[in-house]
Amino acid sequence: MANKKSDLFYKRNFVWEKIDEKVKKEVFSVGEDYKAFLDSSKTERESIKEIIKRAEKEGFVPFSSVKKLTAGTKFYCENKGKMVALVVVGKESVENGLNIVGSHVDAPRIDIKQNPMYEDSGLTLMKTHYYGGIRKYQWVALPLALYGTIIKKDGQKIEISIGDKEDEPVFYISDLLPHLAKDQNTKTLREGIEGEGLNVIIGSLPFNDKDEDNKFKRNILEILNEKYGIEEEDFISAELEMVPAGKSRDVGLDRGLIAAYGHDDRVCAYTSLRAIFEVENNDKTAVTLCVDKEEVGSNGNTGMHSQFFNNLVAEMVALENSGNSNELKLRRALANSSVLSADVAAAFDPTYPSVSEKQNCAIIGQGITIVKYTGSGGKGGCNDANAEFVGKVRKVFNDNNINWQTSELGKVDQGGGGTIAYILANYNMDVVDIGVPVISMHAPYEVVSKADVYETYKGYLAFFNHCK
Ligand code: MN
Ligand code: MN
Repeated sequence: MANKKSDLFYKRNFVWEKIDEKVKKEVFSVGEDYKAFLDSSKTERESIKEIIKRAEKEGFVPFSSVKKLTAGTKFYCENKGKMVALVVVGKESVENGLNIVGSHVDAPRIDIKQNPMYEDSGLTLMKTHYYGGIRKYQWVALPLALYGTIIKKDGQKIEISIGDKEDEPVFYISDLLPHLAKDQNTKTLREGIEGEGLNVIIGSLPFNDKDEDNKFKRNILEILNEKYGIEEEDFISAELEMVPAGKSRDVGLDRGLIAAYGHDDRVCAYTSLRAIFEVENNDKTAVTLCVDKEEVGSNGNTGMHSQFFNNLVAEMVALENSGNSNELKLRRALANSSVLSADVAAAFDPTYPSVSEKQNCAIIGQGITIVKYTGSGGKGGCNDANAEFVGKVRKVFNDNNINWQTSELGKVDQGGGGTIAYILANYNMDVVDIGVPVISMHAPYEVVSKADVYETYKGYLAFFNHCK
């Protein structure tokens, strides 16, 4: 029997109230490092580059150079510049299963179409096709930066990054002035800005040639040709992305929150990266997995549905078995694995209380958030984690003094969503969604708490070191 009546209640705590001054300093210092990570990770490709740069500094080597798996071996395996697995080999055989934290590094954005350029009325513009679940009205009248990759006709690869340095120009999607928005104002938020209305302004000067019919477009093509040696057809074999320009910033006079583009899900990539850098003496092999394409359903060769990850595990099994791949050992390795599907949770927003059920919703600043199931309607499409696995994770968190909370995605029948959880669960792994609560998810600037970033990193580390 509990000594005090109050011990029987499930208590929720604010991280800030539980930590001392020393830890608080650490929370803020992790926050600074996270902001630096975000500012150099504006796209999925940039994120993977930054992750590998940091991993190499921490002694991780390319998987191709690993000849033998021994406890403590640290390596990374990259897939097409958009996906990466970081591994710290444990004392046990791979066949016993891995402890995996899987996040995604793609974020909602505005992609440039394959034949994008046109001029109209003194402006040069590009046609776009938005990526992921954006609320289109939020993405207009903002400074935008352009990132991406162009494969030229001779096969040469060009990397583009324009708009995030102070002296660089930005790009812009226009919106109507209120004076002339009478018709637009009667539309719903969903219809007010249309997909084909997200045209990006990229120029406004004419090329100096009387006989040229497309002076404005020609001028931009000349600039692009001079700077990158590209011509218009090169856009066909390009991946160009418009993202909000500018750096991450502290929010509030007390600086507890961070506003930035792409917290979903780079906050989980960052925290799982930090965690795997500190893994020590792990029994199970630890894996930080950062994937692409989550925001569009995880399809494609760099999404979670790709065979990349189980191919890597097959290679690891082969390394443990004198170069022989062994289908049964691979299947056992996958089925014996435990996964934290690391993705953001919807935080309770006091300005919009009606969409949540407060008792089962993440509160900003109350720590790493366990989401047993996502889905929509009657848990449609969800990965509903086993009570046994949730119990195991909860115990690891409690034993290691992690400030955690539980949440679902809004109140019942309000909407819904999903993550990569169900894909890994298909291998019969134990999987539960766990991540950082976010305010204004999928907006150009989203908000998280530094306290939650810190507890999530500590939570993932406890999982790596202690989940059996
Ligand atoms: Mn996400
Ligand atoms: Mn998302």
